[in-house]
Amino acid sequence: MANGSPFSILGTDTGSPSALLSGPAPKITSLLIKPASAVCNLDCEYCFYLDRDADPYKDLPARRMTMDTLERLVDTYLFYSYPNATFAFQGGEPTLAGLDFFTKLVEFQQRFGRDGQNVSNALQTNGVLLDKDWCQLFRAYNWLIGISIDGPEEVNDLYRFNRAGHGTWKKVMQGIEVMQKEKVDFNVLCVLSQSNVHKPKETYKFFRGLGIDFMQFIPLSEFHPDGTPMPFTITPEEYGRFMCEVFDLWWPERRKVRVRFFDNLAEALAGQKPGSCTMHETCDSYVVVEYNGDIYPCDFFVEKEWKLGNVNLDSWSEISRRVRRYNFAAKKTLAHPECQVCEYQSICHGGCPKSRHGPHKKFEDLDYFCQAYKMIFGKAVGPLRDEVKKLLGHAADLTPHSISPY
Ligand code: SF4
Ligand code: SF4
Repeated sequence: MANGSPFSILGTDTGSPSALLSGPAPKITSLLIKPASAVCNLDCEYCFYLDRDADPYKDLPARRMTMDTLERLVDTYLFYSYPNATFAFQGGEPTLAGLDFFTKLVEFQQRFGRDGQNVSNALQTNGVLLDKDWCQLFRAYNWLIGISIDGPEEVNDLYRFNRAGHGTWKKVMQGIEVMQKEKVDFNVLCVLSQSNVHKPKETYKFFRGLGIDFMQFIPLSEFHPDGTPMPFTITPEEYGRFMCEVFDLWWPERRKVRVRFFDNLAEALAGQKPGSCTMHETCDSYVVVEYNGDIYPCDFFVEKEWKLGNVNLDSWSEISRRVRRYNFAAKKTLAHPECQVCEYQSICHGGCPKSRHGPHKKFEDLDYFCQAYKMIFGKAVGPLRDEVKKLLGHAADLTPHSISPY
């Protein structure tokens, strides 16, 4: 029991599927929707979704969200989330749901939205299906688009293949060109693997050369069942070094270029809630909606034991009060002894439970990337704090505080 919580946050207890807590619940502030589940038109070697035994939908054919489920999702979530609603689409590859699906989504949002309601849409894609028609929809409604690309051709194509085993870089670049021509706002999501982690300068300059001014780097950490890292997984030191070098390249142009990790760090130092859940105190800001309406607390834990309900059967108020949601959220508060004395604890909050759980399936382990976080915070916190002070006149106090809000 932690801080008086009546629910176990240790071990593997996930709570019964339908048990609810009474009283107020943290609001679900955004949805990550998977209209085609984990199905993808590519076959990237490092993809964590592929052949995952824990995926409850792995063997099911024709995984696509129906219009009825989409309509109910939009109707009920807009009512629950008023006045701000964020719909983020991911996969697998979400564009496999088709342009008609997303056109209908916007129609439903217009039909069910109320006066004064802010609705934002985002989509993460591998970019290979994008054309002028997609771009017109994105531009007309100010969608935020993320394109997955890992760097120049030989780097990207080391692990990012299509189903025939061929590299995908040329197709992705065509997608980027059409987005630029049609003036759609987008950022790039670059997975850091053994293909690019030793090339920070080349990678950063490549994206800048394409005119890209918003990038995010996601470190790859996948493990064999015995806990040993898969060949493309990077070490914490490699990740830390990459990001420290990117920081030096980014700093002179920090007012016109955005790097997500540094953005989030600046938000934390400004006393705001960072955009990335890995820097939150608990894992409860968003939920995943699968193609059939099933709901889970995190994209890395789309597993039967963490299912929170279904859009077609449960209300958002019930879903937000599921004991399982609290039990999952509280996994992040299992502070490792090293986190309890860490000078960056009030920013990092122990990292991401996925990176703790990955190697040995234990939520109470230290985050695999801890060493990297310390390297990056050591490099970036000082200058960013001075910058935040210059801009706002104050910066947040980093004194460690209570580990668990539960
Ligand atoms: S496990 Fe990691 S990715 Fe999932 S909600 Fe928690 S911090 Fe975010
Ligand atoms: S940097 Fe490491 S020790 Fe410090 S809070 Fe993060 S995971 Fe814990």
